[in-house]
Amino acid sequence: MYFHYMLLTSMILLIQASLSGRTFQLLWPNLPTLQNLSILIAVPLSAFALTEFSRRFLEARLYAPKANQLLKSISYMSLGYLALSLLLPPHIAKQLSVLGALAAVLAVSFVSPYLWYRGIRQARLFTCAWTGLQIGALTKLFYNLGLLPHSLLTINALEIGSALQAALISLAIVERVYQERDHRLKVQQQVIEEQRELQRLEQRNLYDATHHPVTELPNRGYLERFIKERIGIVGNKSLSLCLISLNRYREIDRTMGQDNADQLLYQIAHQLNDFVSPLPGITALETIAGNRIHVASVDDITLALLFDSVSTKEQEVLMMAISGYLLQRIDFGNLSLDLDPRFGLARYPEHGQNPQSLIRMAKIALDATHHMQGCVAEYRDSFNPYSERRLTLMAELAKAIENNNLVLNFQPQLNLKNGKITSFEGLVRWHHEKFGHVRPEEFIYLAEESGIIHQLTLWVMRNALSKLQSLETSGFGDIGIAINISAVDLEMPHFIEDIRDMLTTYQVSPNRLTLELTETALMRTPELALATLKQLAELGFAIALDDFGAGYSSLSYIQQLPLHKIKIDRSLVQNLERSQENYVIAKTAIDMCHGLGYEVVMEGVEELATLEVLKVLGADQIQGFWLARPMLWDFALEWLKTFVADGIRLPQSNSAPAPEVTSKKTGQTT
Ligand code: C2E
Ligand code: CA
Ligand code: CA
Repeated sequence: MYFHYMLLTSMILLIQASLSGRTFQLLWPNLPTLQNLSILIAVPLSAFALTEFSRRFLEARLYAPKANQLLKSISYMSLGYLALSLLLPPHIAKQLSVLGALAAVLAVSFVSPYLWYRGIRQARLFTCAWTGLQIGALTKLFYNLGLLPHSLLTINALEIGSALQAALISLAIVERVYQERDHRLKVQQQVIEEQRELQRLEQRNLYDATHHPVTELPNRGYLERFIKERIGIVGNKSLSLCLISLNRYREIDRTMGQDNADQLLYQIAHQLNDFVSPLPGITALETIAGNRIHVASVDDITLALLFDSVSTKEQEVLMMAISGYLLQRIDFGNLSLDLDPRFGLARYPEHGQNPQSLIRMAKIALDATHHMQGCVAEYRDSFNPYSERRLTLMAELAKAIENNNLVLNFQPQLNLKNGKITSFEGLVRWHHEKFGHVRPEEFIYLAEESGIIHQLTLWVMRNALSKLQSLETSGFGDIGIAINISAVDLEMPHFIEDIRDMLTTYQVSPNRLTLELTETALMRTPELALATLKQLAELGFAIALDDFGAGYSSLSYIQQLPLHKIKIDRSLVQNLERSQENYVIAKTAIDMCHGLGYEVVMEGVEELATLEVLKVLGADQIQGFWLARPMLWDFALEWLKTFVADGIRLPQSNSAPAPEVTSKKTGQTT
């Protein structure tokens, strides 16, 4: 546009200078041909420059495409005349180029006001400038034709018109330049804004994609990436992942509604973060606004922590602190909630070499807590449903039951009040060809998982009933047998019927068989367990609550159970005589059970000193290595006969301990 304007202005100057003869006078006095040629070139070139400048300045392509087309044709035509003017005879060429110039002037004179009329801003000044030039030219023409009088104005009309035109067009161009700069700035500003918005959006998306929507803590994806990086840094050192599942959260979610449950989860997660922040060895996952975040949200009910290079002992201490913290009831609004938290641990590199497997193993450990005492578990191969050992054991356990390859061992229970043996607890043993002795905790868990537990329990029960028969024939009809029943048994639909059938086969009085159940087992499906337990009690069996004190007891639930005995867990019994704390706990447990009207059996008595304390505390029965280890049936029977023959003198409850006592285990006097 500017180029065409410059061209136009130069050509108008050239035409004026040529017409007035000044070029001839000043520039090429000896070349008349050039003088003629200059007009021949300047006129079509000015027509060309005029149309090109006008259509560009007025942006005709945008606002009036047809007019644009017209101006374009005229400009091409002018170029054609320019070429022709060099070939044709001068007078014809002159007429042609004037014709072309006239067409250009006429076209612009119509197009420009038309666009002004259409409201195109730049057409205003352009039309004025153009009109100024035309008036100047016409005045000059009329003056030359003698139609206007001689005056300063009429002589210089063309110059004045040109000057006016030049001033107005310059103004228009300046306005145009400002307009365009303004527009460019705005566009730039807009682009910057858009980029910023895009960045913000990207950051937000990244945050959302790596954080949990409710807790706003790092999510599973973030944790996996973090562990991967950490493993890279830590190299061969160890790293532990702790998954924390809030077991009762879904229940709370159902009763309190989604919004409240979300708030609760947020509160717990952030309180836990505050609690673990000062603890040593816990890895910060990220820092947000100066706050170090240690807790991740793996899924809706599972939180996670990472321990960096901590020893087994340090990990134990950390877990005690963390589980102790979360096991407290949580205040929420005016409620006090128990979330039943569970903790699953897996260690790099022993249990998993990459983040995914580490999380999976910790999850397996977490799931295992449902089948065991306590709420914390570290990954073990036996927990893993896909470990070779586990698959082999699972497949072969059924065969072992079928082929009678299991063995039941018997451990006696002693009545402290009268010094008599009351019963034996049957404890199952499995010797595997390849793996050797497999601990009952391991294969019982597998049996529960696979459902084989039902056959196992029935096998144990049959075995126990036949041993009750043989006790009777040996003259020990008053001695009972206790067996362990799993939670899964209580959920089996035919359990009661199967037992009833068995009772008719063996013709043994059911009250001689005690069924031991742990509280954790009952809590799996409390209502169903209670109903089945009531049926078992109605059948005449004695029911004992096993491992009391190892879990977290709900007294109100226990009171509903049709119990005869409570067996206090050996963790409360051991070290009784040395630890004041254990002493107080054991005393409280015994008093409480007596208060509820149950007989109390103390498990795991390994030393005489313990027994003496228990006697003082008023425990009814004891079981443990001090008296005898679990024995094969034949040994147990022999042991019983010797025991009955020799008797046992127990310490007097209120006398100073350490009387002469014969241990039947060794037969030695201690
Ligand atoms: P439990 O029912 O609490 O059995 C007592 C466990 O403590 C037995 O371990 C026994 O050997 C051990 N024990 C007895 N006295 C002492 C003592 O003075 N000191 C120590 N340190 N330990 C003592 P065992 O036989 O390895 O059984 C472990 C668990 O496996 C049992 O715990 C029970 O929950 C389960 N179990 C064993 N046999 C069966 C069964 O036939 N069916 C079911 N469902 N579970 C069984
Ligand atoms: Ca037991
Ligand atoms: Ca027990």
